[in-house]
Amino acid sequence: MTRMVLIGPPGAGKGTQAKHICEKLNIPHISTGEIFRQNISEGTELGVRAKDYIEKGEYVPDSVTVPMVKARLQCPDTKDGFLLDGFPRTVAQARVLHDLLASIDSDLDMVLEITADTEEVIKRMLNRAKVEHRPDDTEDVIRHRLEVYRELTEPIATYYEEHDLLIQVDGLGTIEEVSARIDEAMKKN
Ligand code: AMP
Repeated sequence: MTRMVLIGPPGAGKGTQAKHICEKLNIPHISTGEIFRQNISEGTELGVRAKDYIEKGEYVPDSVTVPMVKARLQCPDTKDGFLLDGFPRTVAQARVLHDLLASIDSDLDMVLEITADTEEVIKRMLNRAKVEHRPDDTEDVIRHRLEVYRELTEPIATYYEEHDLLIQVDGLGTIEEVSARIDEAMKKN
């Protein structure tokens, strides 16, 4: 049973590594960004509420994000663990998650941070933009998303370090190299 959170700047390869970890541990991959994108493409009310923020590279308000995550964590497939990718993104969300899990006598087992150099992640995201055509993959929005990440999300690494949950892995290198580093770090844990 592993309940874990994956953090790292946009473009660090979180999505790819999340899939690797989830297959290995046989736990569901919960990506808030993917849930939003799915809802936007289906034109649901949630999608409509999230769309403008995402297109600007801003965070979707907690009044939209938190109930969505709460509902997802109540699905039965999470009872033997899960990997959250993209949530929490602020210290406030980290506290909400803690309280939510505490209310069902549960807690996180581990928080994995994939670190990456700013210029490298910008390069990667511009490449990805050509393939995936995400609405938030233009250079200005990418730079803004990184700023927002540094300001609002990076502090949660410190928060989790203080709670003795943080493992850091260097995200530079090939997909296989990073996966191997993650496997090694998780084994030690
Ligand atoms: P991602 O796919 O994780 O890069 O997320 C794409 C976008 O979805 C982000 O830039 C935010 O606009 C939004 N988003 C995803 N997760 C959250 C969250 N936990 N809180 C607020 N906004 C989020």
